[in-house]
Amino acid sequence: MRFTKITASIGPKCEDKKTLKQMIAAGVNMCRLNFSHDTGDTQGKKIDLIRKISSELHTPVAVMIDLQGPKHRIGNFATEDKYSLTPGQKFTFDSDPTPGDGTRVQLPDADVMKSLHVGDRILLNDGKIEMTVDSVSPDKIVATVVRGNEIWSRRGFNLPDTEIDTPVLTAKDRADLEYAITKEPDWVAISFVQRPEDIAEVRDFITARTSHPIKIIAKIERPHAVERITDIAAAADGIMIARGDLAVEVPFDHVPAISRHIIRECRKMNKPVIMATQMLGTMVNSEFPTRAEITDVANAAYLRADSTMTSEETTIGINPVNVIETMDKILSYADGDAIANPFDWSRVENIPENDWSRSVASMAYLNRASAIVVFARDTTAAMQISCRKPDIPIVAVCSERVIANQLCLLRGVFPVYDTDLFAQRDAFNSARKFGVTSGKLVIVDDDKISLRTLD
Ligand code: PGA
Ligand code: MN
Repeated sequence: MRFTKITASIGPKCEDKKTLKQMIAAGVNMCRLNFSHDTGDTQGKKIDLIRKISSELHTPVAVMIDLQGPKHRIGNFATEDKYSLTPGQKFTFDSDPTPGDGTRVQLPDADVMKSLHVGDRILLNDGKIEMTVDSVSPDKIVATVVRGNEIWSRRGFNLPDTEIDTPVLTAKDRADLEYAITKEPDWVAISFVQRPEDIAEVRDFITARTSHPIKIIAKIERPHAVERITDIAAAADGIMIARGDLAVEVPFDHVPAISRHIIRECRKMNKPVIMATQMLGTMVNSEFPTRAEITDVANAAYLRADSTMTSEETTIGINPVNVIETMDKILSYADGDAIANPFDWSRVENIPENDWSRSVASMAYLNRASAIVVFARDTTAAMQISCRKPDIPIVAVCSERVIANQLCLLRGVFPVYDTDLFAQRDAFNSARKFGVTSGKLVIVDDDKISLRTLD
C-alpha cells in the first residue's frame, strides 16, 4: 500500500481517455486541471471523463481545479524577437498597449503599479531578469536593470518584495470558478495567496453559489504567504508548496527549508500538503528520471508530505503513464523504508497530549494494529488522524462520494465510498477491501473508539 499520494496535472498529452485511464490505474489519486491553460467546457469535459474513469475502475479520484490567480505578465513587443538589455540601463513598464521596444513595454495589469514602492525588486522570466524600481506613478514604473541581458513578449513578472493590494481572485478566476463550481470539483487551488483573508474571500465566493462542500488549497508561492503560513494553513483545507514561483520569489536556496517548515505547520494544523513542481521534470523529454529527481520524490515521502505532484512531465511529456509508474515506484519504496526505519522524521511536540487523534494513532501503534478504520461522514476525523502520521493504513468508509474523493489526497488514507459498509458499520469487510485480512483494527465511529481483532 502506497502511503504518499500522487497528484497529476492533466494536459494535452494525457487527456485522451486511454492515457488518462492508464494513468489512474497506475496510481493517480488526484487530477489537477490548470485553468491557466484551458477554461470552461474544455475543462468541464475533462472533469466528466475523470469521473467516468473513476467509476469504471471503482477507484475514487479527486479532481482539483487550479485557478491562475494574479500571475502577472508583461505585454507584447513589436516583434517576437528578443530585445537586449544591459545592466544599469533604465526600463519602463506602463499602461500603454503600444508594442514594446528595448526601453519600455506595457504591463497589462496596471493595478499592481499602485502597490509598488521605490527600491522593490521586479523579477522577469523566472528570475532571469532582475530590476529595481526607481520611480512609481499611477500608470508608469521606471526601473533599473540589475541582471539579465534579453527580454521578450509575455514574460512572467514577479514582485517578491511587494504585497500586492488586489483581490486574490482576478476577473478571470471569478469566471473560471463560477463555471467550475457547476462541475462540483473536490478541491480548488488558489494561486499567489498572500494572506488568510484571501482564503475567506474564495470560501465566501463558493458558499454563496453552492452547498457542495468544495475544499480549498492555498498555493504557497509568495514570501508573504510563507510568513503567514500558520494562519493560512488554519484558514485553508490544504496547502501546495508551489516551488515553481516560490523559487523565483524567495532565494532558491531557501526553498527546501521553507518546504520542511510548511510541512511541519500543516501537520500541526491538521491540513494535507502537496509538494509540487519539477519533481520528475526531465521526464518531459526522457524515459528516465535523474538521480536528483528520484531523490526529490523519495524525500517528499520521507518528509511525510501527503502528495507529490507532476506538472509538465504529464501535461506535455513524452510518456505520461511512464511518469506515474515511475513516481509510484519511487514513492512505494520510500514509504516502505520510511515506515521500517522511522528514525529521521521530526515529531510535532506541540500536539496536545490529550489530542484525540494522537490517542488513536498511539493506540494503533501500541497494539500493532494492521489498520485504523474510520467511518467518515465528513473528512475531519480521517484528516486529523492522517496528520498524526501513524504509519498504519487508515481505511475511511465514506457515506458520500465527495468525502471519499477529497480523502484521496491524504497520506495513508484509503477511502472507500460504500453506503452499505457505512450503514452496517462493517469494519472487517472495509479493511478486507484493501487486503487487510488479519490483525487488530482500531475503529473510529464518531466519538466511539474501539479495538477489535479481525476474524
Ligand atoms: P503553477 O503553480 O504551475 O500554476 O505556476 C505551481 C508552482 O508555481 O510551482
Ligand atoms: Mn505558480
